[in-house]
Amino acid sequence: MSTSAERREELTSVFRDARGCTRCPDLARTRTQVVFGAGNADADLMFVGEAPGAKEDELGVPFVGAAGKLLDELLGEVGLARSDVFIANVLKCRPPGNRDPLPAEIDNCQDYLMRQVQLIQPRVICTLGNFATKLLRGEQVGISRLHGQAEIVTVGQRAVRLYPLYHPAAALYTRSLLETLRADVARLPALLAMDPPAQPEAAATEAEPAVPEPDLLAPAPEVVTSDPGRPDWARDADDEDRQLGLF
Ligand code: URA
Repeated sequence: MSTSAERREELTSVFRDARGCTRCPDLARTRTQVVFGAGNADADLMFVGEAPGAKEDELGVPFVGAAGKLLDELLGEVGLARSDVFIANVLKCRPPGNRDPLPAEIDNCQDYLMRQVQLIQPRVICTLGNFATKLLRGEQVGISRLHGQAEIVTVGQRAVRLYPLYHPAAALYTRSLLETLRADVARLPALLAMDPPAQPEAAATEAEPAVPEPDLLAPAPEVVTSDPGRPDWARDADDEDRQLGLF
């Protein structure tokens, strides 16, 4: 059984893996940065959205635009803050023009999400919208049939209570969805109070073997952060420090 510190360390190594990912050449070319995820790396509750938008791509943090503000507000209504939860997305890169994720992109990216779930070990995962719900349930049933109904599913090697919710961006546009989303979120504390789901036999609670780290952490001390002419590796190191502070 690995400790919380060991799991966070391993999560850092998954982040280092993901940050230079080129599995989807289009996304790797058009993104500003990989948006790995943010929050409490030891959270009982994890949210999985669709993909970063423009603001998230710019700042490297998930759900920082209008949908994120709504999510914060709804969390606040049930006494939760971002620091209590971990927020990630199906895709870690922004699709150009905020188009829908492509099946091949979802496939390419899902290993990062599975490793996040394996290391964070949430009891409850709220999928936000269709893409996350379909991916984590492994079926094509849509969110309008499933929202607000918890079920125990195995995500990677981890049993979790999956609790599909409407995507906050959809709720921003449709008043009735907002009220439904609010009512579904109101049931989260009761879900979190339930016993954790039993883990599958021989569940791999151990962290996966460490992935060799690229040699990224050697910025020369004289480099000035605001210099627009800075070499890529130095900007990358700043970015890494900033995102590492998010979990
Ligand atoms: N929508 C998402 O699904 N994810 C984000 O990070 C932001 C908006």
